[in-house]
Amino acid sequence: MNRGLIILGVLLLMASPIVALYYRIEYYDIFGNLVRIEYPLLPYGFVLAIVAIIVLVLGLVIPKKVETPPTTRLCPQCGRMLTEEARFCPYCGKELG
Ligand SMILES: [Zn+2]
Repeated sequence: MNRGLIILGVLLLMASPIVALYYRIEYYDIFGNLVRIEYPLLPYGFVLAIVAIIVLVLGLVIPKKVETPPTTRLCPQCGRMLTEEARFCPYCGKELG
């Protein structure tokens, strides 16, 4: 699960019906006739909804980026594997630089 993608998908899905609304202009021309212009944005709303669903599915399928394991090094005295942050070897007590 990838929370960022899921949130993005939900937002896009919520935005798609708004985009799908008709954009309408009404005005009277110089002769007094009502002129109505409608821009059908419905296809864009559908496209956005499809994109939103794809993003949602990707968010569910793609796993969150796995954390890289902490880098390790070897104790110079006993040769055991230590974490990079260790200041002393927990096995032999050697102080590490
Ligand atoms: Zn050691």
